[in-house]
Amino acid sequence: MPGWSDRESTTLPEGDDEAAFALVGNETRAEIIRALGEARGQEGARPILSFSELHDAVDVDVVSSQFNYHLQQLLDYYVDQTEDGYRLRPEGSLVYRTIKAGTLSDRDSFGPLDVGFDCYYCGDPAEGVYDDGMFTVQCPGCETLYDLILVPPATLDPDDVDGLLHRIDQFNRHRRLAFNRDVCPMCANDVDTQFMTSEASPFDPVQPREVVVHQSCSHCGSQMYVGVGAAVIYDPGLVSFCFERGIDVTETPLWELEFAMTDRSVTVRSRDPWEVAVEVAVDGDTLELVVDDRLTVLERNYS
Ligand SMILES: [Zn+2]
Ligand SMILES: [Zn+2]
Repeated sequence: MPGWSDRESTTLPEGDDEAAFALVGNETRAEIIRALGEARGQEGARPILSFSELHDAVDVDVVSSQFNYHLQQLLDYYVDQTEDGYRLRPEGSLVYRTIKAGTLSDRDSFGPLDVGFDCYYCGDPAEGVYDDGMFTVQCPGCETLYDLILVPPATLDPDDVDGLLHRIDQFNRHRRLAFNRDVCPMCANDVDTQFMTSEASPFDPVQPREVVVHQSCSHCGSQMYVGVGAAVIYDPGLVSFCFERGIDVTETPLWELEFAMTDRSVTVRSRDPWEVAVEVAVDGDTLELVVDDRLTVLERNYS
């Protein structure tokens, strides 16, 4: 791929997280990452800026020698030096995008929004509220908690509620799919999966479940608690069973799928080792999925 294959290999100090974190804690260095990230736009290879172009693009009033000092600090971590100038390394692009995802909105809370389904327990319309970086889907009547989703503020556009709910649902699914496939969606490391009783979950008792799946990344701390029905949402047998009966589970908001939101169709067959069955019923037909505690599908039973 142009712009990637010619990267010189460098050796970073092993486990030197602290130095990498500290580097972006300086205004000039953070501005250099921002300027190189913004220069890229949406297409093409990572642009290379000459020293003077980069200095002009950085909105901090420092003399050249000081600017150069900070720029040198970023080399090997977030910025590459080439014959023609400077460009972001892939690690620098990751930092730039993470900061952009976290800082675009001037709204830090809104709601409640009508999320389009009635509580499966008491029938009140469920509501969505965004606050403090989390989108909460909950029933105002009986307080059942349906979802708690980490949402980057850059997603927010309260003037387009339908579009916003669609993006939150799909963003959440993309994270879930990665977790369910044993890959951390934030850092691509392995994921630890464990089944637990509802009482052992931090969301007891507002999220009544037969069993809760906890998935977490030991490298970056990203984690998720989810029901078994939602955890198997992309099983190819389940996707095609529903699709053949008029339901596209890849597009239908997860909140509208009862088997994903409640454990009414979940049966714990065994706790040691865990073996759990989920029934999905559509138009009088039923698909039963049986999974082990790695979320491996052991059986698909049609009736
Ligand atoms: Zn309710
Ligand atoms: Zn991770």
